Amino acid sequence: MTSRDATPTSDFIRSKVAQDRKANKNAGRVVTRFPPEPNGYLHIGHAKSICLNFGIAAQNGGTCHLRFDDTNPTKEEQHYVQAIKQDVRWLGFDWGDHEYYASDYFDRLHGYTLELIKKGNAFVCELSAEQIRQYRGTLTKPGRESPYRNRPVQENLDLFERMRAGEFEDGSHVLRAKIDMASPNLNLRDPVMYRILKASHHRTGSMWCIYPMYDFAHGQSDSIEGITHSLCTLEFEDHRPLYDWYLDKLSIHHPQQIEFARLNLSYTVLSKRKLLELVQRGDVSGWDDPRMPTLAGLRRRGYTPQSIRNFCNRIGITKYNSTTDIALLEHCVREDLNRRATRVMGVLRPLRVVIDNYPQNQVEELDAVNNPEDPGMGSRKVPFSRVLFIERDDFRQQPPRKFFRLAPGREVRLRYAYLIRCVGVVKHEETGEVIELHCTYDPETRGGSPPDGRKVKATLHWVSADHALEAEVRLFDRLFIKENPSDVKNDEDLASALNPDSLETLTSCRVEPSLAGASPGSRFQFERQGYFCVDADSSVRKLVFNRTVSLRDTWARIEQRQTLTAAGKQKHSPNG
Ligand code: ATP
Ligand code: MG
Repeated sequence: MTSRDATPTSDFIRSKVAQDRKANKNAGRVVTRFPPEPNGYLHIGHAKSICLNFGIAAQNGGTCHLRFDDTNPTKEEQHYVQAIKQDVRWLGFDWGDHEYYASDYFDRLHGYTLELIKKGNAFVCELSAEQIRQYRGTLTKPGRESPYRNRPVQENLDLFERMRAGEFEDGSHVLRAKIDMASPNLNLRDPVMYRILKASHHRTGSMWCIYPMYDFAHGQSDSIEGITHSLCTLEFEDHRPLYDWYLDKLSIHHPQQIEFARLNLSYTVLSKRKLLELVQRGDVSGWDDPRMPTLAGLRRRGYTPQSIRNFCNRIGITKYNSTTDIALLEHCVREDLNRRATRVMGVLRPLRVVIDNYPQNQVEELDAVNNPEDPGMGSRKVPFSRVLFIERDDFRQQPPRKFFRLAPGREVRLRYAYLIRCVGVVKHEETGEVIELHCTYDPETRGGSPPDGRKVKATLHWVSADHALEAEVRLFDRLFIKENPSDVKNDEDLASALNPDSLETLTSCRVEPSLAGASPGSRFQFERQGYFCVDADSSVRKLVFNRTVSLRDTWARIEQRQTLTAAGKQKHSPNG
């Protein structure tokens, strides 16, 4: 974290932690953890949890652990562990020596299990998965007890040992907690604690063929690590009585679990399973596709860690599920890049312009401001010459009303350069497409200000044709057309909710020469076009940029409108 981060406002979790410290609970210590399952990449929802857990530890002089909840060997991979570590570090957090794995506790969890069996709190069940489901009952109907529920302790110990030794097939036996088949909370209806999975684990290899269920491993892992505040999303509220039950039966350290609402974002899915589906089906180029809501995707898109932390601080922590407008995330990155990104000129869809009255071989180096928000960032020189490129969109042969840019006979300003007037249009013989403009420039207007004070309504960006560099630019739109893509029922519906136009690749863009050698990850504002980041695919031969976000800020406008309405004014903003 840096001093530029906004201080998070307090919330019910921070108040509880403060209260516990005041009461000297846990001898005043605060230990939190971020517990990902290494079965996919982290997304922006995880960032909320990371900022909360690491943030609370930092505010309270405590520690935050990074613990991999790696209890399912069939879905987990070492590759994901590395990616998760990279992403947490990139986001700006440091877990020091506190890197843990639930799999490091397999021995202790096994020991706890023997203890529970001996106390008569667990039994080996031979019902199939389907039968267990049927016996469980429903929210309105109590469950039925398993016929294996009342086995003697010795038989349970013996069978569990044989499960562990690999004597039985996957799915033939499970170990279940003996709680209450009539409980109104389904999680307490004799939940499964261990299952047989003859699968190799990314850390323990073939040491085990039985694996603890997440619900058994999670609470005990928190307890083993001495976690004081175990923060999780609301779905786990109904699991808390189960976690409490295990901890009470084992009489071990009892972390305080506190639930908060997960992040939901409009036009976005935040489920690792669904994101994996997109990757596997090839709907995106990978977990780090710039359209993905993963931290790797956002990084490649050009998001800064600080903008994501600021976003997390602004949305705050609540107890109620809601959906955050993705415009707020975009607003946060604009706000940050506005302060740090160097301004440059880049033309996305070039149209050739010849300045007829400009000397053939003359080149002028004009001064351009690097960042009007930060004079300390200085200025640079941009070359101006007789042949330029401007944006195709900045010219109309028949300008509609309110189109103030270039048109036949009309005068506009070229940023940092001169006023030019369009005096001729060259069209393709067959297609009629405009392929070149002829203009004249007014030598008296260098720097863009005419001595007679005459007004021009538009300022265009441009590059010098002979000096510009070729570039590829990737423009992105929302990955989904549906506002709530998480609501879809199945994977086909998810596929049909995809936006077919979420990626547009422009291959013949031209950018100013100061961008030569810009390294992957560096960020710029292309004047009038948005913020851009050099992609990993970029090379000295061909620059490749991703557009992080356009300049238009719908969120700022929403906020502005709200303030205006609040102030009782009905005026419209002039730049709307
Ligand atoms: P997914 O639903 O995407 O599979 P998960 O909860 O299964 O996510 P984990 O790896 O278990 O993924 O998540 C690690 C931590 O991140 C958990 O503590 C979880 O509560 C938190 N987390 C996951 N998604 C969100 C979210 N959308 N908002 C806030 N916290 C989240
Ligand atoms: Mg989870």
